[in-house]
Amino acid sequence: MSNTDTHDPTSLRTPIVAVLGHVDHGKTSLLDKIRGSAVIEGEAGAITQHIGATAVPLDIISTIAGDLVDPDDFDLPGLLFIDTPGHHSFTTLRSRGGALADIAILVVDVNDGFQPQTLEALDILKRSQTPFIVAANKIDTVPGWSVNEDTPINDTYESQSDRVRQRLDEKLYEIIGNLSDEGFSADLYWRVQNFQRNVGVVPVSAMTGEGVPDLLTVMMGLSQRYMKEEMEIDVSGPGVGTVLEVKEEKGFGKTVDIVLYDGTIREDDTIVVGGQNDPIVTEVRALLQPRPLAEIRTESRFENVDEVGAAAGIKVAAPELGDAMAGAPVRVVRDRDLEDVIEEVQAELASIAVDTAEE
Ligand code: GDP
Repeated sequence: MSNTDTHDPTSLRTPIVAVLGHVDHGKTSLLDKIRGSAVIEGEAGAITQHIGATAVPLDIISTIAGDLVDPDDFDLPGLLFIDTPGHHSFTTLRSRGGALADIAILVVDVNDGFQPQTLEALDILKRSQTPFIVAANKIDTVPGWSVNEDTPINDTYESQSDRVRQRLDEKLYEIIGNLSDEGFSADLYWRVQNFQRNVGVVPVSAMTGEGVPDLLTVMMGLSQRYMKEEMEIDVSGPGVGTVLEVKEEKGFGKTVDIVLYDGTIREDDTIVVGGQNDPIVTEVRALLQPRPLAEIRTESRFENVDEVGAAAGIKVAAPELGDAMAGAPVRVVRDRDLEDVIEEVQAELASIAVDTAEE
């Protein structure tokens, strides 16, 4: 960081990752695999529970990725995956008019290739100018494939027969060709020098975990290299986020699940939330995180926290949230003028309405 002033409250937040792709190409399986690997590696307790999102801290990425990642090369804290894959969540979740996700994974089934929703996803990524990589999924279904669970792609590729390698290469080059037809210069990720100009293709299996170390490494590298400036936030500033979902919760009434992408939110903060009619002004009664699975049987599903900093997924319990909308902005007022914050929320809602009308 150029500013070494110790009073500088600036910090680097976790990039927010979305997963897109055609139905059945493996979006959910890939997220499950990443979550599963992270939970196993994080048994010591390093995994933080989030609402609607999965945080994979850098040290866990580095354990999963083995030799591929040297944690000293990175200062971003990890990756935050939005748990709901697909276009709908991508297009409804905005931040300041842009995409909420900083970066995306486009999942393409190597056998099925490009399908209508693959093209739709590409179009959405292009319009929102979201950097992305392609996960060429289900490599384990190439006839003759021999599985090497959770290994980097190079290791498993080397252990396949010539025939199998050739079959996989053909499928991968087909995907690279399809990307090129859509105006994206693409290549296998290890050949890509500049990820801003070229789309990297990572062969993976969401089933066997092969290539998942590479996928996490590339995502981390891409974020670190090209998004670092955008990840600089004022950690102690008033929180800014987007509503993922509005949910009735026993004992709390209507709550909002939000992804916070800037600043912090605290218990008792006054917040402004985009509503179906007017912006809602309310006060945070509780910030709720999911409790680790093992403890749920004896206690409530959630535990209270006093404060959360970006990027994070959190459930907010507050009065008057009945009219809140998925996709709407949330802003913490803190030391600012309430009217200014209401105006900001209104302006953001208006820009979302315009974008939706254009679609
Ligand atoms: P989504 O609709 O994109 O979320 O796709 P899913 O994750 O639900 O996967 C669709 C189907 O493909 C499921 O039956 C998965 O088990 C299967 N699947 C997903 N990834 C893989 C993979 O890497 N290998 C194999 N063999 N099957 C997979």
